[in-house]
Amino acid sequence: MNNNETFDVVVVGSGAAGAMTALRSAEHGLKVLIIEKAHKFGGTSATSGGVLWIPNHQLDGDKGDSRAQVMEYLASITSGPLNQERIDAYVDQAPEMVRYLKKSGVQVMAAAWPDYFPDKPGARADRSVIVPTFDGRQLGDKRYPLMREQYNRFKLFGRYSMDLVETFSLMMQQKGWRMTVAKMITRYWADRSTRKVSHRDRRFTQGAALMGAVYKAVFDKGVELRLETKLESVNADGAGRVTGVTVSQFGRSYTIDARHGVMLSAGGFEWNQALRDRFYPVPGLARHSSTPEDANRGEALIAAEAIGADVEHTGAGWWIPTMTLPMVNASNFHEIHQAAFDVGRPWSVCVNRNGDRFVDEAIGYDSFGKAMVEDHLKTGANCPCWLVFDAKFRAKFSAGGLMPTVHTPDRKIPDDWWDHYVFRADTLEALANKIRLPWPALQQTIGNINAYAKTGVDPEFGRGMNIYDQFFGDPTVSPNPNLGPIDTAP
Ligand SMILES: Cc1cc2nc3c(=O)[nH]c(=O)nc-3n(C[C@H](O)[C@H](O)[C@H](O)COP(=O)(O)OP(=O)(O)OC[C@H]3O[C@@H](n4cnc5c(N)ncnc54)[C@H](O)[C@@H]3O)c2cc1C
Repeated sequence: MNNNETFDVVVVGSGAAGAMTALRSAEHGLKVLIIEKAHKFGGTSATSGGVLWIPNHQLDGDKGDSRAQVMEYLASITSGPLNQERIDAYVDQAPEMVRYLKKSGVQVMAAAWPDYFPDKPGARADRSVIVPTFDGRQLGDKRYPLMREQYNRFKLFGRYSMDLVETFSLMMQQKGWRMTVAKMITRYWADRSTRKVSHRDRRFTQGAALMGAVYKAVFDKGVELRLETKLESVNADGAGRVTGVTVSQFGRSYTIDARHGVMLSAGGFEWNQALRDRFYPVPGLARHSSTPEDANRGEALIAAEAIGADVEHTGAGWWIPTMTLPMVNASNFHEIHQAAFDVGRPWSVCVNRNGDRFVDEAIGYDSFGKAMVEDHLKTGANCPCWLVFDAKFRAKFSAGGLMPTVHTPDRKIPDDWWDHYVFRADTLEALANKIRLPWPALQQTIGNINAYAKTGVDPEFGRGMNIYDQFFGDPTVSPNPNLGPIDTAP
């Protein structure tokens, strides 16, 4: 089948990168097509937290950030092969991009969030930008349910959308959290006209708010989006100039020509085990990915390599610790729990399979993932590692998809999860025996943590001793909001 279609620009992948390319190209009067292989659009971007790191954004006027300070920070946190031209481009264009979004009708606002390496020179706590809650129905009633649903963690009971403030309020059981829950549920069911269209909450938050607002602008500019249309190959002429793509849709293959270019914005390759094994130093499993299962398989990377394209930075990943819930009848996306905000809380510790700590558990999730990899390379006893906590932790915090006991008491945990996914014992030694950790090592580790909880100082890894850690700590716990003794059974 050949339908001889021609566009000015063909964008592969409907995530943030693809949508922005489409928006900017359409604004220049170009005829744009976005192809998306999934039956929903928005990619990982729509499932994400939607927090943009835009240094020196100046959205609330000049707050004292500067190009020089950003460069100082980036120089202090980067290593290995760097592409300075790209760093320059990012630092100079990111604030410009946010201004452009605003001009295009996308609301943006500054959000407080510490830089992930708060002790490094040039760090600040005001470089994040978010898109406020967006009314999904502005995309049209046929389209709005087709935006990819958010990650479970960002939806109460998988249904009611939560913004960042609500997510934290519930996670930390902040004052008034019950009222927050009641409001979310009432708002959802009171919205009768939407309930006739879809069970999907019209209130798009976080990554969905970002993508909803950007797609409103994209569709307003007349961009065509074609779902279930997968890139098979990138086509080039004899001189190596890209001329278009071959795609498959509903089991048929056809070519689409692109006059001005093809944008490959098809996400990562975390779902492709062969590419993971090729590029990453530790053999992590694809199924531990916390991204949509049907999305990022590196097909664009493979297609580009097939026509001789060079690739770079493939060894760099965006890491986050995850846990795999033993759920029945659930897709991987719902089985996988991002554990980033479960770790680093008081009354808990993370240990490798030797019973040793290996990281400041409250550190940024990307650094946590890297620490797991590094420790595994050194000891062969990480990936997977353990989160050990006591009854005080269990009462107050979520862990591995289990809500605190006030929401999910032990009796509500499925029987088959016990001693398979979650382990309970009346003494730490009995727990160590259950999960095959060497007791002397675990005993030493817990003894240390309990001592650090008293002094507030973690001399090994500095947990709770910088503003990033403290941002996610428990302010009611002192002297260190990230450290509490592990001493209450079970
Ligand atoms: C739960 C979660 C929270 C996150 N929170 C944040 C955050 O707050 N801030 C932040 O900066 N980052 C965050 N991230 C990371 C961020 O979401 C991603 O880095 C970003 O969304 C990638 O955007 P993208 O446009 O490159 O790709 P994606 O959004 O992944 O889009 C790629 C699209 O390409 C499609 N595709 C793939 N192959 C093909 C093919 N062969 N043909 C056609 N289409 C194809 C996929 O189906 C997908 O829809 C988070 C990630 C997760 C999982």
